Amino acid sequence: MALSDAAREVDDAFTRPDKRGASFENAFGGALSFMRRTYTKDLRGVDLAITGVPFDQAVTHRPGTRFGPRAIREASTLQPCDPPFGWDIDPLTDFDLIDYGDVAFDYGDTRSFPGALTAHIRGILGAGAGSVALGGDHYVTYPILKAYAEKFGPVSLLQFDAHPDTWPDDDPNRIDHGTMFYKAVKEGIIDVAHSVQVGIRTVVEDNLGVPTLYAPDVHASPEAAIAKIKEILGDRPTYLTFDIDALDPAFAPGTGTPVSGGLSSAQAFMMLRALKGINMVGGDVVEVSPPYDTTGATAIAGAHMAMELCCLFCWNLREKRNV
Ligand code: MN
Ligand code: MN
Repeated sequence: MALSDAAREVDDAFTRPDKRGASFENAFGGALSFMRRTYTKDLRGVDLAITGVPFDQAVTHRPGTRFGPRAIREASTLQPCDPPFGWDIDPLTDFDLIDYGDVAFDYGDTRSFPGALTAHIRGILGAGAGSVALGGDHYVTYPILKAYAEKFGPVSLLQFDAHPDTWPDDDPNRIDHGTMFYKAVKEGIIDVAHSVQVGIRTVVEDNLGVPTLYAPDVHASPEAAIAKIKEILGDRPTYLTFDIDALDPAFAPGTGTPVSGGLSSAQAFMMLRALKGINMVGGDVVEVSPPYDTTGATAIAGAHMAMELCCLFCWNLREKRNV
């Protein structure tokens, strides 16, 4: 396909002839899919499935992240006619990426949601693909992690966030976007010693031994932070969760619990690109809340971040296939 196709192509989400290749249709028209990928429930031959999790019933403060997947998909239409900047691979051309649509769940039966999401991700992993999920509030990472732990055993968690999300919560029925990693640690689905939280700037009394790089640590030396992250993760299977509030509210105001003093988008992208080579097996971008995203900047940051996660995943896949 070429730029001239914008004159006649529309709805690449449903009409593109194969899964690979750039998309040149008009970015302002057509049905939405992430990066204009094929929108399908067919996982055969798929390397990476992008999936939406429009759930925001676990928030402590401002809601709205149920609209996150749509907003990120829309913002992603600005990108798919060029290879990603700063990488020498192009996941869109060299790998089979699809948009797997959103997880289905009963909004009125919140307690059935975690199981539905774990089963949704289990289906993707069982088909041999990886997943990059578009949130949704951060609670969604916990049911996703359960599916990853079934396949990989306890995974290393690489978490970019203003908050550790390890506040104590021993009630198995509570669904809370600030306590799910406490539960994940207690259940042993995270490899605590080889996990790391980055950008933290809120206080939790007991972080359960999870290695932490606070926001001031990153500001003092992003290079030292990158080296530390690589040292902690090694080559262990790593799940990367990016809470968009890791970014400063100047760069990502559209989120439920913004905290000043965060990472710039430039710092975050620089760090992720420097982490190429980690054994990244899946990830998510969460907490994009369009009702508070008055300029759309948060959705744009989220769409770029999701694409960075695709690049990290595909980089790792390429290294594994070359072995
Ligand atoms: Mn979080
Ligand atoms: Mn957060």
